[in-house]
Amino acid sequence: MHLERVDPDNLPSLHDDEATVTGKVPGSRKLRERFDELHDRLAKLQRVFYADGRHALLVVFQGRDASGKDGTIRNVCGAFNPQGCRVTSFGVPSTHELAHDFLWRIHNAVPPRAMIGVFNRSHYEDVLAVRVHELVPEAIWSGRYQQINAFEAGLVANDVIIRKFFLHVSSDEQRERLQERLTNPERNWKFRAGDLDDRARWDEYTDAYREILGRCSTMDAPWFVVPADDKRVRDYLVARELVDTLESLDLRYPEAAPDIMRYASLVD
Ligand code: ADP
Repeated sequence: MHLERVDPDNLPSLHDDEATVTGKVPGSRKLRERFDELHDRLAKLQRVFYADGRHALLVVFQGRDASGKDGTIRNVCGAFNPQGCRVTSFGVPSTHELAHDFLWRIHNAVPPRAMIGVFNRSHYEDVLAVRVHELVPEAIWSGRYQQINAFEAGLVANDVIIRKFFLHVSSDEQRERLQERLTNPERNWKFRAGDLDDRARWDEYTDAYREILGRCSTMDAPWFVVPADDKRVRDYLVARELVDTLESLDLRYPEAAPDIMRYASLVD
């Protein structure tokens, strides 16, 4: 069970049935064990990623309200040493941010080499919320796909590895989770009336997401659609993709200085 990069020539429909995996899913105990194993591997890989220092990793999470962005970040990115990882959440831009180009606040949060940057929402809101709620004219947002691709290509050319995950929940699952937000006192602080407005625009968001997947899933900065109705499956799939990404980098601890043993007698 693993994710495939989105192929723009074979776009996912983003219908409700794609919010669950097809085929065989391990039982919940087995899945837990496998996830725990990936979690351990991620922790080890992050240590050598940091020491190796040749790359940065940018992990982007997008998804509808209650699709599980916070939970995925907690469960999967919780494997990383907090010193080597920074999570940035992008909400409605401030007046100051709006005075700049839309990528300004994004670029500022891109991780430096050795670090992992996690985006909870991202520059893609500028072709999602902005498009669906008509916050700028189409002539402006429609040019952004190309600007985003150029921006990401520039980052990749400068050693930033990019992986982008769309957490895909079905309409029924979102309804349940939003209802839970209303009734559970530990969760209702998360509820915003705007969530319902966005839910009412489900199809418009689907179109906006499909356009992103079709135009911005590139070889170097691919999108993955994560079937996210089942939280354990979601976490497993994201963790697996990140493990595969990090393992493909041939990470190494830097070699010790040749004369390091000279210091051995000085350590008492
Ligand atoms: P969340 O809902 O992810 O827990 P917040 O309540 O802080 O977080 O804010 C997210 C809201 O900000 C979402 O409705 C999102 O669409 C909106 N948002 C994020 N980026 C932008 C943007 N560039 N322009 C307009 N709205 C944005």
